[in-house]
Amino acid sequence: MKKYFSIIFLFLILCASILTSERAIRTMRHFSFWEEEPEDKNVTIVIDPGHGGRDPGKVGVNNCLEKDINLSISRILKEMLEQEGITVIMTREEDVGLYSEEDSNKKRADLNNRVSIINSSGADLAVSIHQNSFGEGYVKGAQVFYYAKSEQGRKLAELMQGRIKETIGDDNHRKAKANDNYYMITKTTCPLVIVECGYLSNPEEAELLLKEEYQKKMAEGICKSLLEYIEANHLGEEAKKVTHRM
Ligand SMILES: [Zn+2]
Repeated sequence: MKKYFSIIFLFLILCASILTSERAIRTMRHFSFWEEEPEDKNVTIVIDPGHGGRDPGKVGVNNCLEKDINLSISRILKEMLEQEGITVIMTREEDVGLYSEEDSNKKRADLNNRVSIINSSGADLAVSIHQNSFGEGYVKGAQVFYYAKSEQGRKLAELMQGRIKETIGDDNHRKAKANDNYYMITKTTCPLVIVECGYLSNPEEAELLLKEEYQKKMAEGICKSLLEYIEANHLGEEAKKVTHRM
């Protein structure tokens, strides 16, 4: 009888060790009842929702404010990236500017603070989210900007431009564009791209940009390109950090 107990006991120990083995845990994660724990990718991305507080950014033909759309898209993007195990730092989480009341040049103080958040975070990549505007109402379409001297920035921007076009599906023929004078783009130490998600001066696009579904598609395009870039450049693997000026 004692022998049978020993066999059962050993059998139970065997079952327990199989169930807790890493492979079993990974397998069980594929079942819907098992809550997916994102795998830590050891990659940090700063998301910078442009404007905020007393600075509304562009004002849409439908009176929507750029600062609000920037923040909404950034929040969705943050969630998507965190689901993928990426560490996300936001330059702002609320409707605030990054200046203090004492600052004489609030715009410059705001941009300086955004740059120092990005540079002191040791982030691998940074994405500024903005909306565009133009005198002619027919002009529309998302466009991604990168620092003209950054080869990595160009690669990321081109990838992002393409993925946004795919997820939005609006036959946008714009190309990623080099820039060498935007303050933030020239001051950050990691590759930074600026996404102008659309034109608030275009009546249809201004309406779409207010819709959560559209904001999700925009965030999805941005997220996909970031993941592809991370994969292709082996970010998160030790000693593979890239700098802006390459
Ligand atoms: Zn802006």
